[in-house]
Amino acid sequence: MILILLGPPGAGKGTQAQRLVSAHRLVQLSTGDMVRAAIASGSEVGCQIKTYYDAGKLVPDALIIAMFGERLAQPDCVRGAILDGFPRTVAQAAALDAMLAERGLTLDHVIEMTVDDEALIERIAGRFTCAACGTGYHDRFKPTKVSGICDTCGGMQFNRRADDKAETVRARLEVYNGQTAPLLPYFRAKGKLRSVDGMASIDTVGRAINAILEGHAG
Ligand SMILES: [Zn+2]
Repeated sequence: MILILLGPPGAGKGTQAQRLVSAHRLVQLSTGDMVRAAIASGSEVGCQIKTYYDAGKLVPDALIIAMFGERLAQPDCVRGAILDGFPRTVAQAAALDAMLAERGLTLDHVIEMTVDDEALIERIAGRFTCAACGTGYHDRFKPTKVSGICDTCGGMQFNRRADDKAETVRARLEVYNGQTAPLLPYFRAKGKLRSVDGMASIDTVGRAINAILEGHAG
């Protein structure tokens, strides 16, 4: 089973991918990890990729595709894989299809975790933690019982991650949406695209994804 999971940062894609890895014994393949591993292994593809890296040049799609092909042929991928962060363009998606066909494989599902951008921004930007004990809170969904005082330890200092600022989250979403928008009609036309509500709880999203994998979803 070969899956692509699409979802913006903060939508819980990593959590769902981990669940799929455990439940279905899939391997999660991320481009960055694979590039590092290919270079370290000294394989032919790895050496070619290294040449581009050392020259500070963009690695051509064909090489990345070849790397995925080599990786999918390894024994741990026998039950399938989740592609993470790839493909990013329609050209890459088409090249991926061609490579899989050559190897007698098919892309089974592209699962898009849809989010409400404004709601996701609120969900992420509202997070804060107690500086003393690390208890997590949220401005709206899980405020402290007494304003400004940690429920757990009585601490009065709280931290907010710089990455969680509303404008930072919004910028990340814009990049994701810009990158993903052209891919959606491509996969939809091939009948591969399925959507789940990424704003639902982790368990609900997990069940929706399982229903798709088991062919029960409408
Ligand atoms: Zn505390």
